[in-house]
Amino acid sequence: MFQLTLRRRGISDQAVLRAMEEVPREAFVQPADRADAYRDSALSIDCGQTISQPFVVAYMTEQLQLRRHHRVLEIGTGSGYQAAILSRLCGHVLTIERYRTLADSARARLTELGCDNVEVLLGDGFDVPANAGTFDRVLITAAMEQIPDALTERLEPAGILIAPVGPRHGIQRLVRVTRTDVGFDRKELVDVRFVPALAGIAREL
Ligand code: SAH
Repeated sequence: MFQLTLRRRGISDQAVLRAMEEVPREAFVQPADRADAYRDSALSIDCGQTISQPFVVAYMTEQLQLRRHHRVLEIGTGSGYQAAILSRLCGHVLTIERYRTLADSARARLTELGCDNVEVLLGDGFDVPANAGTFDRVLITAAMEQIPDALTERLEPAGILIAPVGPRHGIQRLVRVTRTDVGFDRKELVDVRFVPALAGIAREL
C-alpha cells in the first residue's frame, strides 16, 4: 500500500521506492503513532517538530538525483527518517539539528538501524562549520524565507540544493538550485508546508 501510494503520486525512481520500502518509518515516529506510520501524512515528534509526509520525503529524494559516491548535507535532522532514506542512496550524510533531544535520539535510531554513513551534528544550519567542506547535494527540511548564499556556496560543481522557501506560516514552495558553470539555476517545484528554520542552537532541550 505504501509503495502504491507513492507510485500513484508520481514517484518512479526504483532506488528511491526501494529505500522507502526498506526503512521502517515506525521506528522514527512516537510510540502512540506507530499504527499510523505508513499513512501518507506528517506526524508530530518531540520539541514541537514534525516528521515529514512520506510522499514529500520520496519526492525530495528523487529530485536530488543521488549517486552512490555523493556527500550529502541535510539541515533539519528531526526524527532522522529522511537521513536514513538518503543514507541508502549516497556515500555519506551529514545531518544538522538545532535540538539536542532530537539530534541524540535520531543518532541512536540511525545507529540501531545500521546507517553507519550518517553523521548527526547538533548545530545551526545557518552556520555550518567551515571544516564540514563542500557537498554534492544539500537538502533543507525546514522552511527558509530565502536560501542563504552561504549554503549554495557549499555546492560542488553541478551540485543540487533543495529547500522549502516561503513564509513561516503559509504556503511554501520547494525550490531546486543547481550549480552551473556560470552561476546557479533555480527551479520552483511543488507547494509544501514545513516547520520554520530558526537560527541558533535551541536553548530548550
Ligand atoms: N527531516 C526530518 C523532518 C524535519 S522537521 C525528518 O525526517 O524527520 C525540521 C527540523 O529542522 C526540526 O527538527 C527543526 O528543529 C530543525 N531545524 C530548524 N531550524 C534549524 C536550523 N537552523 N539548523 C538545524 N536544524 C534546524
